[in-house]
Amino acid sequence: MEIHGDPPATYKCRNCQIPIAYRSELLSKNYMGKTGQAFMFSHARNIVFGQKEEKSLITGVYTIAAIFCSNCGEEFGWKYLQASEARQNFKEGKFVIECSKISKHF
Ligand SMILES: [Zn+2]
Repeated sequence: MEIHGDPPATYKCRNCQIPIAYRSELLSKNYMGKTGQAFMFSHARNIVFGQKEEKSLITGVYTIAAIFCSNCGEEFGWKYLQASEARQNFKEGKFVIECSKISKHF
């Protein structure tokens, strides 16, 4: 089978290997998580949400929810639910996942 474009890489939970997101859903690699570099994804699967909370970042105040692996409970990062600044609205509904919590598979 011939595949065009990027290989269909999958990002999996580093702990239990359950698929979390696909390469086609990766929006940005320029985010910071709690512990280091983080990726922003348009979608994520096999996750559960923590409590909603308000988070103050350099770019404004956001309502977020922590996200965890539905299989092993590992904390991945957070989902942006709402942004206080209109120009940050594009982040709403997006997932920020720490690189150290996922591994890439081809
Ligand atoms: Zn897991």
